[in-house]
Formats: sequence, C-alpha cells, structure tokens
Amino acid sequence: MEPTAATETSAESPQQPNGKAPQTFDVVKPADGTVIRRVVIDDADRVGDVVGRVRAVQPAWEALGFAGRRMWMERLRDWLLANTDVITDVMQAESGKVRADAALEVPHLCDMINYYAAAGEAYLADEEPSPHLPLMRVKKAKIVYRPYPVVGLISPWNFPLILSAGDAIPALFAGAAVVVKPSEITPLCFIELVRAWKEDIGAPDVFDCVNGMGETGGALVDEVDFIGFTGSERTGKVVMKRAADTLTPVSLELGGKDPMIVLRDADVERAANAAAFGGLLNSGQICLSVERVFVEEPVYDEFVTRLRERVEGLRQGDDGRAYEADVGAMTSPAQTEIVSGHVEDARTAGARILTGGRRREGPGDYYEPTVIADADPSMKVMREETFGPVIPVMKVNDAEEAVRLANDTTYGLGATVFAGTNAAGERVARRIEAGACDVNDVLAHYNVLEIPMGGWKQSGIGYRHGPGGIRKYCRTESITVPRLPTAKSELLWYPYSKPKRRLIDRVSRFFNARGIRNRLGL
Ligand code: NAD
Repeated sequence: MEPTAATETSAESPQQPNGKAPQTFDVVKPADGTVIRRVVIDDADRVGDVVGRVRAVQPAWEALGFAGRRMWMERLRDWLLANTDVITDVMQAESGKVRADAALEVPHLCDMINYYAAAGEAYLADEEPSPHLPLMRVKKAKIVYRPYPVVGLISPWNFPLILSAGDAIPALFAGAAVVVKPSEITPLCFIELVRAWKEDIGAPDVFDCVNGMGETGGALVDEVDFIGFTGSERTGKVVMKRAADTLTPVSLELGGKDPMIVLRDADVERAANAAAFGGLLNSGQICLSVERVFVEEPVYDEFVTRLRERVEGLRQGDDGRAYEADVGAMTSPAQTEIVSGHVEDARTAGARILTGGRRREGPGDYYEPTVIADADPSMKVMREETFGPVIPVMKVNDAEEAVRLANDTTYGLGATVFAGTNAAGERVARRIEAGACDVNDVLAHYNVLEIPMGGWKQSGIGYRHGPGGIRKYCRTESITVPRLPTAKSELLWYPYSKPKRRLIDRVSRFFNARGIRNRLGL
C-alpha cells in the first residue's frame, strides 16, 4: 500500500449497509502535515454486519483446533517477516515515529505469535483438579477453556500494531474471532494487516477491523462478547459503562504516570541513560514510560547533568528508513497541546527547563525533547499523564520519600528502580504500587511475554501476556463426569428424610472436623 495517495479506503466497502453516503476522516502525516489517506467511517449498521460475518465463521475457526489455528498464525508471522519494511513504512508515515521506534513493532508481533504458538496450547489445555472433598473424588472434575465467540479490541495511536494486532494474536489463538477498531489517528497499518490476512494469506474470515471515532467504538462494544480496550482512563470508563448495558466483560489497559527512583548508590550514568530512553522512546508517547523521576539528594546534580547531556545530543526528525534520528514527531496535535501546557505550568511554578521546552519551528508537529529539573508534586507534569517527550526530575531526601511520592498517584502501570545492588532495588520494587517494576533497567518487562503486564488502580483492569493473556479471551466451563458406575439416585436427592439427613450430617461432620481430617491426612 502506498502511504502517499489521498484516496478513500475502508476495510471492505465504502458503502454502508443502510445505503447512506459514507462519512470519512483524514489520516495525516505528522512529520509534514500532509493528508495520507481518507478513510470511511463505519456506522453502527456496518459494525453489526462485520461482527455478524466473523461470528458466523468463528465456530469453524474454533473447530480447527489449536494446531489448525497455529498454522494460520504462523502464516501471518511469515507474511509480517516478508513485508516488514512495507508495513513499517505505512505505520511510520501515519505516526511520525523515527525508524528505530517504528521498527520495534513487527518483531514484537512475530515474537508474540511464536510465544503463543509454543505455549498457548498448554495454557488452554483442560485442567483436572482433584476435588479436596473425598466424597467428590468419585467425579472427574474438569476446567475447559472455551473462547468468547467475538472479541472486540479498541486501540490507541501510539503503538498502532502492537496494541491492536498484539492483543488480537492470543485471541485468535484461543479460537475467538476478532474485530479491531484502530485509532482514527493511525488506522492504516492495521487496515493493511487485515487486507493481507484476507487477500495475501487467504485465512478464514475471523479477523477484521472497523474504522471511525468514538461512535464506531461504542457500536463495537454493543456487538461483541468481550471488549479489550487500550487507551485513556477517560475513554476506558466510558467503554466500561457502555459494556455494563450488555454485561460484556472488559479488560482495560489505561494511562500511567510511571515513576523512576534513583537511589544514592545507583550507577548514575546508566540511570540517566535509562531515563532518557524510557522517557523519550516514541517521543514519550508510551504508556509504560519514565514520566516522573525521583533522585536521592547526593546524586541529584550528577544525574540531571548527565540526563541533560544525553538528551541534548539526540537528533529529532523524519528519517525515513535511514535510522538517523532518535526522536520523532508528535502523533496527535491534541497531545502536543497537553505537553505544552504541562511544561508551561512547570515553568511558571519555578521548575528549571534544562533543555527543550518548546515546539520546534517548521513543518510537522515536533516538540523538543525536554528535561525539567526541580519539579515538585504540585505541578501538572508530576501529577497528570503528559504522554510526550518530557522528563521531570525531583530531588528527594531518601528512599522512603521516593517510595511515598512514587505511590502518591491514582495510576499504577509501571515503575523503574535504580539501586546499588539488584537486591536493594528489588526491596524497593516490592513496595511500589504498580503492575510492573524493572530493577536497574527500564521497560524490560514488556518483552518478557511470560509475565503479565497490566495496570493497578486507575491504570486498568486485567492483564496482557502470559497464561492470563490468552485465557482472558475464554470463558471457563466446569464439567464433572462420573468415575464409577452410577446408582439410580444419590444420597442428596429427593426424597428428604430424617435418617438420610442424619447420615449426611455424620459424614459431613466427620470430614469437616479438622482434627480427624489432620489425623487421616485429608
Ligand atoms: P483514547 O482513549 O483517546 O482513544 C483510544 C481508542 O478509543 C481510540 O480508538 C478511540 O477512537 C476510541 N474511542 C474514543 N471514544 C470512544 C468511545 N466513546 N467509545 C469507544 N471507543 C472510543 O486514547 P488515545 O489518545 O488513542 O491513546 C493514548 C492513551 O492510551 C494514553 O492515556 C495512554 O497511556 C493509553 N495507553 C495505554 C496503554 C496500556 O497498555 N496501558 C498502552 C498504550 C496507550
């Protein structure tokens, strides 16, 4: 797909099922402000049509079994490997990422496919727990994982493939059909992926997308059996309320205000380099990030000096396929306004802007990589999600103060601790209120697919990755099957009588009495 022509596109047909003229939105290239493509908005009728179509095919997809689905998923991986540059070009154009940031996404998807291809079958295998009640051991008890027929995913713009296809992969492995509503700001690479699934790969029609803004997303919530939402806390609450109307289960991956703590005996140079990378990756438009830094007083000056030097040396711009820039454009103009507002608020409140602190002149939407020293918790940049290339740093007296301030937030997505020893870092990590914490590293946990990633507090509900990352797309069915030949009736069944009741009481008191159970080793 050429990312330059401004033509109309929709996942399938621009004609809406109700015959109305379609409405459209433009996808803009943040690096220079040109329109890349016009996309048709899918109304509620068309959302219903798309969901209905994949719903009809889903039973056959589930019936393929894990091995059958794995074959198609591995073909998707092979397509991604063969078309990495093309799809990365599309994503880079619509997001304003530098090449190195854009190039993170396809390998992550391939890794996700390989991970669940290897581990997913075991994660979904029937479980047969032994009943703790000896009387119930006459039953074979089974937990069976069965997919939600249609999973809906609503995605943000900052990682347009990882946060859409990345979540679709385990759902498809689980046997669900998946319909994604990508962000209206960066839908094109996902549209291309769905096209490839259908046309190039020729896979079963269980993976599709619908395009548009909030209305399209809301319509998707109404139609599906499970909704996975990634985006802002504000929209996440709207989605959860809407899902309540149909009692549709949700998982929510929301915003964060991730703290980094740097203790006095840490490797300050490594910590400063990590802060620069974690805070500025993807122009700071990343949910797991370095959004606030707390540094112990003895190493504060050295830390801010090193951080400023590292950030001042970074190159900003549109580097095509050249890997010659470090920090890209802002993807959404609305986000640039928020970033600008936070920096001005900090400046007014007396913080020192050591480098950056303004929009760059010229074409495109660029905000200069910014380091703020002497920040304090009253400033917006330390309390609200900035989601831009801004690293505010605050001096703290000791680790206690750092932990207290790190936890003083309504968010709880990720965190980072730098300490002199890994053990000391882990002791602090265990006191952080967040879904994940990296010790002497930054953002590392996201690439360990075996461990869950998800938010505490208002950063979300539910997790991705690991066994839970595929089981969440399933309902459990509990099945019991007799192990022994069965009688015509059971002791508990009708009719009730006093002798039967006495016998039941004796048996149950025998097994419920802790002393007897212990003596018998039950
Ligand atoms: P957003 O909430 O504005 O939009 C997310 C998606 O929701 C978009 O596709 C949008 O069209 C859709 N949407 C908007 N209104 C809707 C409605 N009423 N009903 C249904 N869908 C609706 O978020 P964004 O600006 O695209 O993304 C940035 C946010 O996402 C940040 O807060 C960031 O922290 C968060 N995020 C979280 C994670 C995570 O894993 N926790 C990952 C990336 C981004």
